[in-house]
Formats: sequence, structure tokens, C-alpha cells
Amino acid sequence: MMMFNADDMTLFLAALKFAAVKHRKQRRKDCEATPYINHPIEVAQTLWQIGGVRDNVLIVGALLHDTLEDTDATSEEIEQHFGSEVLALVLEMTDDKSLPKLERKRLQIEHAPYKSKRAKQLKLADKSCNVSDIAHSKPHNWTLKRCQAYLDWSKEVVAGLRGVNTALEAHYDTNLCAARVSLIG
Ligand code: NDP
Ligand code: ZN
Repeated sequence: MMMFNADDMTLFLAALKFAAVKHRKQRRKDCEATPYINHPIEVAQTLWQIGGVRDNVLIVGALLHDTLEDTDATSEEIEQHFGSEVLALVLEMTDDKSLPKLERKRLQIEHAPYKSKRAKQLKLADKSCNVSDIAHSKPHNWTLKRCQAYLDWSKEVVAGLRGVNTALEAHYDTNLCAARVSLIG
């Protein structure tokens, strides 16, 4: 396990700024239209605080995990600024947007067991945060049924991610139970 030094902090802050700029026009789907950047920050914090992750490639990858999929960021930019390991991780987090949405969701379940150890942990943190968002700040136009379908789908993805970080897995399980209770409560 790697530790954090000054170079790590330099890269961390550069990634935070890069993601903030790239996501600047985007909002989450909740009622308050929360600034999008709050989500990658929360995912990075979950890895650090809950998962005990001290691998800077993984923390930086968390900050950048939605930039290729959702912004005009390019692979070249990410490799140039953050290196090939970070790029490889962000690519593992990026769905093929040329495919229909339901096919993309099916492939997330199918591909989960074959992801790298880093990507599995990042996906666990990402799904934990989204499930928590369903409980506390769900997409403004989603019905109960749609929220429950999201929870069911995320559980199937997470089934393929287990075996890499027990704390993150337990955190997801806790968030999933809390979200189910909050939806029917
Ligand atoms: P998704 O199900 O992919 O949307 C969920 C994603 O939105 C999350 O994974 C998260 O992605 C992001 N997100 C942004 N804000 C929030 C928030 N506040 N809470 C939770 N997640 C948030 O939805 P799409 O709109 O892309 O739809 C995918 C397909 O699923 C569509 O074809 C839809 O019709 C279909 N569908 C419809 C259902 C229905 O009942 N009508 C049920 C299930 C699926 P990230 O981590 O990347 O930020
Ligand atoms: Zn995400």
C-alpha cells in the first residue's frame, strides 16, 4: 500500500481542479440540482475514510471517474496530466455510450467480476454513494418503482465486485438497507 507525499497532494489537487472545471455545467438529478462535483468528491472521501484506501491512483481516479463518460475530457488529457495508471482506471469506469442505456446497465453486471482490484473498489464506493443519494436526495422525477429498480440493479453489479475491500462492501450493504427503509418509510 502506498502512502501520501507532496507529489501525491499536487496530483490530488490537480485532479480536483480538473474535475471541477470539467463538471462545472453539470448538476446531479436531485431536487436541489446539487453541483455534480460533490459526487466525485464524496466517492473519493468514501474510499479514503471508509475503505482505508491510501493508493493515490485510486483516489485521483475517484475524482476523475465520471469525466470521460459525462464531459468533454479526453483520454489524452487524462494520460498527459495524471498518467497511464489513472487513465486505465478511469477507462474501466467508463461505459460505452454508443450502446443503448439498458444494454450498458446489463454489461455493468456482466463485466463487474473482471474489473481490476482498483476499479472494483471504486465501483463499490460509487454505488454506495448513489444508493445513499437514492435515500437522501433521490432524482427529482423518479417514482418509487424506479428507485427500487436502481437499488436492485446496483446490488447485482456489487455482487460481482466483492472480495476486494470488506469495509466498502459492508458500507454498501448498510447504505442499501437504509435506502430500502427510507423509500418505504
Ligand atoms: P440511471 O439509472 O443510469 O441513473 C442513475 C445514475 O444517475 C446513477 O448511477 C448516477 O450515476 C447518476 N445520478 C445523478 N444524480 C443522482 C442522484 N441524485 N441519485 C442517484 N443517482 C444519481 O438512469 P438513466 O437516466 O441513465 O436511465 C437508464 C435506463 O434505465 C433508461 O433507459 C431508463 O428508462 C431505464 N430504467 C427505467 C426504470 C423505470 O422504472 N422507469 C427503471 C430502471 C431503469 P453516476 O455515478 O455516473 O453519477
Ligand atoms: Zn459516479
